[in-house]
Amino acid sequence: MSSIFTKIIKGDIPSYKVAESESHIAFLDINPIAEGHTLVVPKKEIDYVFDLPDDLFSETMSFAKKVAGAVDRALKPIRTGVVVDGREVPHAHIHLIPIYKNTQEVALRNKVKVSKSRMEEISAAIAKEVIL
Ligand code: 5GP
Repeated sequence: MSSIFTKIIKGDIPSYKVAESESHIAFLDINPIAEGHTLVVPKKEIDYVFDLPDDLFSETMSFAKKVAGAVDRALKPIRTGVVVDGREVPHAHIHLIPIYKNTQEVALRNKVKVSKSRMEEISAAIAKEVIL
């Protein structure tokens, strides 16, 4: 069965997309821990990020760097943090987490409420800053 992220990639379920290339996609996490929490996903469905072939792993990190730059320009956090977990969705992905305060914890259990209209606003703002 396809992962939920493959369904997003195929357009079978919606997402707040911020960037897409032939091999990668980035969209807002539906249950963010900070405004602008973004997932970077290689389209090839491989569960464990460290099982990605070296070239795809490097491309994924390069793509994540470009998306993080767009997050930084659009939302002006102190910086953007990176988390790799993967225990919920078995399709390799990188969490990009804008850090707005030095006291902000970067923990995937710390969900915040972001309205649909704000998610739309944020994804459009990030998308506008993406340079691939
Ligand atoms: P992990 O697998 O790294 O522990 O976490 C998976 C992340 O994917 C979670 O932060 C969760 O909120 C997010 N997620 C799960 N299902 C969906 C979905 O259908 N759409 C989006 N945009 N994010 C999802």
